[in-house]
Amino acid sequence: MTKKAAPVKKNETVRLKFEDLTHEGSGVGKINGYPLFVPYALPGEEGDVKVVKVNKNFGFGKLLNVKKSSEERVEPPCDVYYKCGGCQLQHMSYDMQLNMKQEQVKNAMKKIAHLESVPVHPIIRMEDPWRYRNKVQMPVGEKADGELMTGFYQKRSHRIIEGMETCNIQDEVNDRMVEAVRRIADRFNIPAYDEKNDTGVLRHIVVRTGEATNDTMIVIITRTPDLPHQDELVDELSKTYPHIKSIVHNINDRQTNSIWGKKSKTIWGEGYIYDKIGDITFKISDKSFYQVNPPQTKKLYDKALEYANVGINDTVVDAYCGIGTISLFMAKEAKKVYGVEVVPEAITDAKENARMNGFTNAEFYVGEAEKVMPWWTAQGLEPDVIVVDPPRKGCDEELLKAMLGMKPKRIVYVSCNPSTLARDLRILEDGGYVTQEVQPVDMFPQTHHVEAVCWLKRDVSTQV
Ligand code: SAH
Repeated sequence: MTKKAAPVKKNETVRLKFEDLTHEGSGVGKINGYPLFVPYALPGEEGDVKVVKVNKNFGFGKLLNVKKSSEERVEPPCDVYYKCGGCQLQHMSYDMQLNMKQEQVKNAMKKIAHLESVPVHPIIRMEDPWRYRNKVQMPVGEKADGELMTGFYQKRSHRIIEGMETCNIQDEVNDRMVEAVRRIADRFNIPAYDEKNDTGVLRHIVVRTGEATNDTMIVIITRTPDLPHQDELVDELSKTYPHIKSIVHNINDRQTNSIWGKKSKTIWGEGYIYDKIGDITFKISDKSFYQVNPPQTKKLYDKALEYANVGINDTVVDAYCGIGTISLFMAKEAKKVYGVEVVPEAITDAKENARMNGFTNAEFYVGEAEKVMPWWTAQGLEPDVIVVDPPRKGCDEELLKAMLGMKPKRIVYVSCNPSTLARDLRILEDGGYVTQEVQPVDMFPQTHHVEAVCWLKRDVSTQV
């Protein structure tokens, strides 16, 4: 049997007409039916491409020039956009970004969930799609002369981009705080972590600022158990920047890709900050998940609340509840809300958040949702509504089974990955639920990430 060879060779230059976009926002052009994926190319464009990788059924190319340009192409405002791995869509008009995300959700519904006719509403756009992120996790390195530098990694590498002064999707306060910590640490000659040799000290500077409160938390992550010049660092930061409410030292002594270590010590102030979404105040600890785009989060949670359609006699389960954000939105209208979350610090925050806001109808449990929910069922809990908001990999199979076993009237599914959302919807549909509406929300402008919320109704006619 002869294998059909790819019609291009590595390092060859070809002229391509781009017809489509991948999920990551790369342009797709074909040579004799063989697709090449090319970052920064847009549909309708033509350009020369250097072939950089050839697989059996598809390849990758580098855009050398644009001979025919799309009207949707815009000049990226960021100086390091083409080097950085953070954003993928700055060369596209915002309308085109939204359109791409909308289509992605629609396609996932059709191709993965096999839901041809479910309404996918127009994506909820962000008024000003810049400077929205309330949290930054910035790697620290050294220039050739030993001076500290901070910046995101170059695409597909762990090399820090030199000369990165600002990030246009980041809250300006966070930008300035990263620079302040770096400047002070440099003055005290605290060395950066060297990943290759697993030596040095400073690994990452994490900054989170509450949009409504302007409270800032700084987390300094080191390889070493001690933070050199800790007292001087803390003194200068806290005295110069009164909006800093918390400074935490986190220790990550492993030679690993992950940013955070297990051990955190609060070295100044409290170990948390506050923020507000709508009329609810939230306490957020260093290790707790908190949505990164506050104005869009409010729109997302309002939609989740609308879809949950909770009445005063309803019981709600919020699986993957984090610090209880969605739970407390639901608790405004429900009789009782049960939240479950795997990170213990987040549950401590959730309990405190319920207390602080005067909710007596919300209970929170630490554990894996897929284990806690069957236990709840065994205790006789029969929720009217279940809300899930899982990480990118979607719901655990056991959790989907547990949800079906609880037979709620409605399920609200919040997702940051349309593919796993669609996969899980198919399982829920096969288990007797019918997807009613899907609402994409642009939580991450300039990047290819897509958020969506949808709701399903139990189809009583098919239940045994
Ligand atoms: N609904 C919250 C959190 C969503 S993020 C909000 O909007 O803020 C997803 C959360 O699921 C994270 O807090 C993560 O720690 C948690 N998580 C991940 N796997 C889990 C599991 N198996 N069981 C329970 N929670 C889990």
